[in-house]
Amino acid sequence: MSVLIKGGRVVTAADDYVADVFIEGERITLIGESLDIAADKVIDARGKYVLPGCVDPHTHLEMPFGGTVTIDDVESGQTSAAFGGTTCHVDFCIQGKGQTFADALADWHAKADGKQLIDIGYHIAVTDLSAPGALEELATLPDQGVTSYKLFMAYKGALMVDDETLFRTMEVAAATGALVMVHAENGDAIDVLVQRALAEGHTDPIYHALTRPPETEGEATNRAIQLAHVAGAPLYVVHVSCQESVEPIAIAREKGWDVWGETCTQYFFIDQTFLERPNFEGAKYVYTPPPRDKANQDVLWAAVRNDELSAISTDHCAFLWQGQKTLGEGDFSKIPNGGPGIENRLQMIHHFGVGGGHISLNRMVELLATNPAKLFGLYPRKGTLAVGSDADVVIFDPNKKVTISAATHHSKVDYNLYEGTEVVGSPDVVLLRGNVLVENDELVASPGIGQYVARAKFGEQLGR
Ligand SMILES: [Zn+2]
Repeated sequence: MSVLIKGGRVVTAADDYVADVFIEGERITLIGESLDIAADKVIDARGKYVLPGCVDPHTHLEMPFGGTVTIDDVESGQTSAAFGGTTCHVDFCIQGKGQTFADALADWHAKADGKQLIDIGYHIAVTDLSAPGALEELATLPDQGVTSYKLFMAYKGALMVDDETLFRTMEVAAATGALVMVHAENGDAIDVLVQRALAEGHTDPIYHALTRPPETEGEATNRAIQLAHVAGAPLYVVHVSCQESVEPIAIAREKGWDVWGETCTQYFFIDQTFLERPNFEGAKYVYTPPPRDKANQDVLWAAVRNDELSAISTDHCAFLWQGQKTLGEGDFSKIPNGGPGIENRLQMIHHFGVGGGHISLNRMVELLATNPAKLFGLYPRKGTLAVGSDADVVIFDPNKKVTISAATHHSKVDYNLYEGTEVVGSPDVVLLRGNVLVENDELVASPGIGQYVARAKFGEQLGR
């Protein structure tokens, strides 16, 4: 099978030019002007952008959490991703307490293998190193293509680890070529604030934010940065939401330390007041870290523009409003933490980020595709358009008008964070390794086409 994409504006993190892109099998084999080549399928991309498939480094599909399971499984979550122009994601495989990493990974593979529509890799989330041999087993994972270790510094009594576990994992990462990822919030302090709020009878969703002040994120971010520096490990701070967390990352990067930060689409658009919406609607916006004061939105735009933050993910972690979020009616601490968004990242960042003058088109590609691919060992197979790269391609129509809505999205979740938002610019055709996934607003591929990707170690490139 060969595909010729004609006359589109090819945009990568570095380049922007009109060209034809020729795909043979699963890879791009030629890029040039006015290519005169026969192909099985020709796509007219004139007037459109030809972008690398987006890479979402932060998702939670079919994940048990908060007494329930995220509503999007691999099939619905990846369908949603594909419509949004995301062709590869790295999902969090969560180690159960006392579970071996091999067993945890087997659980996650069982949820995905044979059902995938897009490509997937796994981060391992370390929750328990107390079993004999756990550290030694952790050290073997990078050789198996699991090259990032995630730790939760919050969710006390559930996923949270202590500083010893955090630091020991950092030491293993430094020795084995893994990237350490942290959910940076001070879980101990937050637990005190949550218990006090509940004891005082404060049960509404807004208390989710009021009991997780930005300083608790800033403190944990800085603690993780300092400890990673002592251990000699590279560090990636997930879902940065506020100035208090951007600042220590910026300081570390200024010093040349191996520290990167990610924010998520929702933090640019949803502020703390959304949690005050009546009739329990505020629960839709209960994710962690919580939506912050609106002033932080400008801080985040500046940070992604000037490379204090280096990636935008979705943290897609979808729970139904009716039936799952409602577990927390009368007790905000029991609202499952998480929000949807895997489908709308490119549309929202293009319309408001590029359209709003915050970032360039090249920087958008860098934040949504190239940097996630580089940091998580997928580059240059993923994250760019180049000869030899996987033919993961988004043909993006910059003039296509879309009204975002739960009525038309492809997630199973019953609400959309951006309900009613009108954007101009949306994916038109999406290809995964040369196979058309989405065309004319229809899914044209079948599950099973996606693959597991064994990722390269930190700082290394992914060959074949
Ligand atoms: Zn997450």
